[in-house]
Amino acid sequence: MTAEDGPLLRVGQGFDSHRFARESAVAKPLVLGGVVIAGEPSLEGHSDADAVAHAAADALLGAAGLPDIGEQFPDSDPALAGADSMGLLAQAVELVKATGFDVINLDTTVVCETPNLAVHLAAMRDNLAGTLGAPCNVKAKRPEQMGALGRGEGIACIAVALIASRDAAGNGSINAAS
Ligand SMILES: [Zn+2]
Repeated sequence: MTAEDGPLLRVGQGFDSHRFARESAVAKPLVLGGVVIAGEPSLEGHSDADAVAHAAADALLGAAGLPDIGEQFPDSDPALAGADSMGLLAQAVELVKATGFDVINLDTTVVCETPNLAVHLAAMRDNLAGTLGAPCNVKAKRPEQMGALGRGEGIACIAVALIASRDAAGNGSINAAS
């Protein structure tokens, strides 16, 4: 690739899912994209179980050829118990930037039967955009009562991120041949 080709682009995808916590579990709020959704069952997880932040982080890390969120922030780390996943996402953004790449955009789809996320999408989008410093989108889809998600057992999120080399010639330290 030559400088005339413009910045090198890399795409990454991420997926995450968490089951709803049992009623006996310690009460935590439901958090998606950094938005606290009151009055809904929380998700089980070592951190705050923010599936949107986790999928977004894996999309970004994947685009940069970096180890995934489970390796970067292991759930065996007691310091990460109840962790704010938007903070982990911010760290993932810094890891990507350290490879010589900037975030271009992020698109996500949250898949769950309940709750209805329509009124929360704009706040989730704004939180993500603020953390990534790039345009972000959050969509919600119902699984049409199919499978575990359709039975309302949890929430899943799919994310796609695009990153571009800061150096027009694509000379980032990304772990990929060009
Ligand atoms: Zn997760």
